Amino acid sequence: MSVVADAAGPFRFVLVRTAHPGNIGSAARAIRTMGFTRMELVLPAHFPDPQATAMAAGADDVLGRAGVHGDMIAGLAGCSLALGLSARRRGVQLPEWSPRQAARHSLAAAARGGQVALVFGNERTGLENAELAHCHGMVRIPSVDDFSSLNLAQAVQVMAYELRLAMLDGAPEAPPAAADEPPADAVEMERFFAHLEQTLDDIDFHKGRTATTILLRLRKLFQRAQMDERELRILHGILADAQRMARLAGVAGKSATAD
Ligand code: SAH
Repeated sequence: MSVVADAAGPFRFVLVRTAHPGNIGSAARAIRTMGFTRMELVLPAHFPDPQATAMAAGADDVLGRAGVHGDMIAGLAGCSLALGLSARRRGVQLPEWSPRQAARHSLAAAARGGQVALVFGNERTGLENAELAHCHGMVRIPSVDDFSSLNLAQAVQVMAYELRLAMLDGAPEAPPAAADEPPADAVEMERFFAHLEQTLDDIDFHKGRTATTILLRLRKLFQRAQMDERELRILHGILADAQRMARLAGVAGKSATAD
């Protein structure tokens, strides 16, 4: 099989809170022309919809197979790399890549056995900071500053085209030798972040300060590490021990004051 046929599987296009069903259809057509078939829809305003079908212009297989999800993590399940496309630089400081760089990163991640999500926001509001926080990097199509926003399906087309171009350019660099353990996916990372948040509370890390900023920074740090499942298990183990120690200290502290 060709590299293209082999590599088409790991990529998915995730459309978040799409308002206009016509854009869903146009996006389906855009990805289908570049050899991709997987689209995941997170909280679409209208789907299925005749406008989506009309604009898909025959890419019905993509629409028919599209998953519909109630939250972004469900749309990212199975992915070890999520790249958020955004016209604007946001408060969340993520590494920023061009579509071309993003395509190369995506191919490298796929070569390591991971699945990759290209994530697109709502037509009016784009991707919210909380949605970008689930991503490992931000991709900006280098449009002009005073008119930067492409139509959603056209942005999908640019990214799908770059991905195809990178695939046609040849096989990505060989995966690192130690890639024997599967990369952690978005659902496992979310479970880890929940455990981390709970542990920081248990050990009273915040001491009355607001937790939001530090949690976003930690999220960014751990996303950047692109951990595998074994590494995640070790971190869960450390957190569980910290929680156990906090419990013991709490019990010891209380009994000491009671005495
Ligand atoms: N005002 C919104 C624009 C939304 S356009 C914003 O500032 O983000 C709908 C979606 O198309 C965006 O969420 C993004 O995923 C994609 N998009 C549009 N223009 C883009 C650009 N120049 N670079 C990257 N993505 C873009």
